[in-house]
Amino acid sequence: MPNRTVIPPQSGRAIRVSRGDLIRIVDPQGQQVADLWAFTTGETLDWLSTSHTRDIGERLFPAMGERFYSTAGKPLLTLVEDGSPGPHDMLYPACSNALYERAGFHGHPNCQDNLHKALAAEGITLPFTPDPVDLFQNSMPLPDGRLDVYASINPPGGYITLRAEQDLLLVVTACSVDYYPTNGGVCTEIEVEVTRPE
Ligand SMILES: [Zn+2]
Repeated sequence: MPNRTVIPPQSGRAIRVSRGDLIRIVDPQGQQVADLWAFTTGETLDWLSTSHTRDIGERLFPAMGERFYSTAGKPLLTLVEDGSPGPHDMLYPACSNALYERAGFHGHPNCQDNLHKALAAEGITLPFTPDPVDLFQNSMPLPDGRLDVYASINPPGGYITLRAEQDLLLVVTACSVDYYPTNGGVCTEIEVEVTRPE
């Protein structure tokens, strides 16, 4: 049986996984972006780097069977199944208090704070915020280089499956954007199922 974690709307959770585990990140109600971070749990702090992943993979997002890499160029996760129409984003930062302040909202929940709260629950303080992988986020660059975020096209139950290539601490947030079409106008939950192959 998979180990299931429900991430309520506009919140985040830390999940420890072991090398070989399969991690399925599910959007039960559809159109909900999930931000994903991965940190190594060994003696040296290393983490999933979207820029290194773009560089090594020579793509905006890994294709099936390709990997997400760390700042040290180590493979951390492999994309083994995409049960969604995509696209997934690796260009945007997490939504943050500063973003919402610019939009005129004060004290709004946000993925950056939810990352740090989830890490704090694991006893980890990080003085910076790595850029996340924005699963199900519909923000592919336009041919002239412009960027905007449109409503996610992920259907209810759309998911992605990753394999852990190392022991990792994952953080997944259910993105908090509710004033822009990013999450279809309504913030909903994300589910994470971790399966350990026999
Ligand atoms: Zn967010």
